[in-house]
Amino acid sequence: MSEQLPLVTPPQATTFADLALCEVLLNAVTKMGFERPTEVQQQAIPSILERKDMLVSAETGSGKTAAFLLPMLQNILSHTSTLFGTRALILSPTRELAQQTYAQCCEFAAATNIKTALITGGEDFKRQQSAVRRNVAVIVATPGRLVELINQQLVDFTQLDMLILDEADRMLDMGFSEAVLRIANYCQEQRQTLLFSATLTHYGVLKMADQLLNNHYKTLALNSLHQGHQNISQEFMVADDVEHKQKILAWLLLNESYDKALIFTNTRLRANSLQDPLRAQGLRVGVLHGEMDQRDRNRMMQLFREGVVNIIISTDLAARGLDVKGINLVINFEVPRTGINYIHRIGRTGRADELGLAILLVRSSEWNLMAGIQRFLHQKFTQRIVKEVGGSYKGPKKLKTSGKAVGSKTKEEPKKLKAKKVKVRLRDKKNIGKRRQPNQSPDTERNVE
Ligand code: AMP
Repeated sequence: MSEQLPLVTPPQATTFADLALCEVLLNAVTKMGFERPTEVQQQAIPSILERKDMLVSAETGSGKTAAFLLPMLQNILSHTSTLFGTRALILSPTRELAQQTYAQCCEFAAATNIKTALITGGEDFKRQQSAVRRNVAVIVATPGRLVELINQQLVDFTQLDMLILDEADRMLDMGFSEAVLRIANYCQEQRQTLLFSATLTHYGVLKMADQLLNNHYKTLALNSLHQGHQNISQEFMVADDVEHKQKILAWLLLNESYDKALIFTNTRLRANSLQDPLRAQGLRVGVLHGEMDQRDRNRMMQLFREGVVNIIISTDLAARGLDVKGINLVINFEVPRTGINYIHRIGRTGRADELGLAILLVRSSEWNLMAGIQRFLHQKFTQRIVKEVGGSYKGPKKLKTSGKAVGSKTKEEPKKLKAKKVKVRLRDKKNIGKRRQPNQSPDTERNVE
């Protein structure tokens, strides 16, 4: 089987045994001819075993099915339950994918007493009814047929440990969003939820992640995202400094056509500071950040939804979960610190039926960060030049093949800054193992949002 895979070779030679899987699963893996875990298996299995909710971008062919099946089975084997009820549920968009997943699950579980059922449309309903009555530990299902069984209360998900949504982007594109939510609501709340999707820059996928995953979910972007989201055009504009960025921002908001716009900053201080100058220009602007209490946030969201305010300045944390129709312009006032944050920001625009424009404002010290994000996404952003707000910085004179500026490192890293970085690294080392505060997001833990 291994020869079918056009796999990315994992960076280090981790074996399946290194992933802390139990003997019976290791034997099954060997029997199937898997020699080494693929990248998605290496990266996802440890976190899944730690019971983390996850949003993972991985395509068919990456080995993603085993990446969730193995830790799922391991969990069932290590926490046996005498109670009646299904322990894990896998939702697939199509019958064919459900069948393949079911087959792989049966192979992995062959030497265990774990029973699996396949519930898909187009098959005999009665047979499926009796299959689920036999207290199966794992159900692999397509959403439509499963909802029929739920409506008849034929399945029991009160003991469910794990809900897995495979190819979530396809499920949404096929119109299963309501069915998936209905099923998720039927599952017990303390479950672990995993969301796999070919692309992460998909409005619906991010929305679903916000709705179904817990606050501390981990995002793993593994496949090349070069296809990106066709509905979002991505541009950047260079700027001299913060004041120049403010000028560009005001120009864009006054001259671009949009229904609603979102502006992202890296800190709440910056978010606050942008509000008044924009209001002074007659723009209907509001701010949303983590320091505001929930009532104020809700009020602001309400104003934004109703269009009383049509521009929101926000930090990353506050934008998670933001689901408003008609956002067709996203301006990144500052380059986000990670590619994952960038994906979450631009994913707020370009819903299935709408086009979105994402513009990133970049000054010289941020150039390399932007280059890193483009490399991460396997995407090139288009440069926009607006005469009316032109500045003196035109971008780096020379670029490395990585897209980074030639010679920028030495210029931008004077001794003092380097010493500060070493200090921070030492402090971080000291903090390893300390628990994160409950409401800190893993992607944004160093930001003051
Ligand atoms: P998937 O991306 O899950 O659809 O997997 C694609 C194919 O890769 C399937 O035929 C799997 O059986 C196979 N496969 C998954 N993991 C491995 C691995 N670690 N080594 C070799 N083949 C694998």
